[in-house]
Amino acid sequence: PDSMQAKLLAVYEKAEYFYHHLLVNTQTGEEAYRYLLDRGMTKESIETFKIGFSPPKREALKLYLDNEGLNDPELLKKSGLFSDRDDAVFLDRFSNRILFPINNAKGQTVAFSGRAFMEQSGNYRTAKYMNSPETDLFNKRRVLFNYDKARASIRRENEVILFEGFMDVISAWQAGVKNGIASMGTSLTEEQISQLDKVTDHVVIAYDGDDAGLEATKRATDFISKDTHFTMEIATFPEKLDPDDYIQTKGIEAFQDFLKHGRDTLMSFLMAYHRKGLNLKNESERLKYIEIVLKELARVTSAIERELYLKQLQDEFDLSLETLKEQMHTFVIEQQ
Ligand code: ATP
Ligand code: MN
Ligand code: MN
Ligand code: MN
Repeated sequence: PDSMQAKLLAVYEKAEYFYHHLLVNTQTGEEAYRYLLDRGMTKESIETFKIGFSPPKREALKLYLDNEGLNDPELLKKSGLFSDRDDAVFLDRFSNRILFPINNAKGQTVAFSGRAFMEQSGNYRTAKYMNSPETDLFNKRRVLFNYDKARASIRRENEVILFEGFMDVISAWQAGVKNGIASMGTSLTEEQISQLDKVTDHVVIAYDGDDAGLEATKRATDFISKDTHFTMEIATFPEKLDPDDYIQTKGIEAFQDFLKHGRDTLMSFLMAYHRKGLNLKNESERLKYIEIVLKELARVTSAIERELYLKQLQDEFDLSLETLKEQMHTFVIEQQ
């Protein structure tokens, strides 16, 4: 019931404090702290996002919560903070990971995502990130990382920036971009979109510049297109960089500039996406490309936008505007 939820929130609040304290103030957390600072994360961000460290001693969290009077075994099991391999002992699920608290829309911590970081020393053969399991408080499909902190600025700027990872959101935040969010390492969901729908109608997708990021961008644009309220722009980072890499290698100013002026319209992203891997000197590949673009254009509602890209096709492929329009209209009818 409700009191269980309140207790779960209390457990998460205490755990967050425990992990954060260990990271920032103790020798146990030193290596993790150093790792974050070396990656360019500021002390201020570590504070703002209440980043923490789960110690190698896997019993420590249980002992700490005991001391805080939170020792109901059923509650602890429900929290998802402990490994479920052995019911008799309560061993910290995350041990040795850097922890990013995940907040709900009210700013309450309802889960953690833990990053392994000792790959250099070769002693981890485990997933880079690990999330809390779903609980009464945490629904992965609903939560958007940083939504609680970003909401006001999303409203103000009527724009949300969608990143792939937590590190991207935090780096961008440090660079003054406060309207960034990330989904929980999965594709966007209906629930997340409808949450965004309440605060903005413009989405900028700024996923990683690698192939996986490009494919994820394409999927996201298809998914968001189904909801016609949203307009979209795409920031495709060069050289396979993710936004965080870009900031670290090219600097804050270059990042701000790229995010502001380096965006593509949805159509030019799609055109670039579809011509990848095609040889347009080859006639049949050229025809294929033109058809795909006309199909995408058939979904565009703005007459000006249509005209703009039809003209581009006209110029590039030396076709008449009438022919292109005629063909596009057959696709419009198909899609109705
Ligand atoms: P870093 O810069 O620390 O390597 P990243 O954000 O660039 O992190 P990516 O590999 O680009 O990491 O993954 C993007 C996001 O996908 C992560 O922030 C995380 O939410 C999720 N993710 C990545 N790997 C995993 C995993 N093994 N399990 C669950 N989620 C993952
Ligand atoms: Mn990636
Ligand atoms: Mn990345
Ligand atoms: Mn990264």
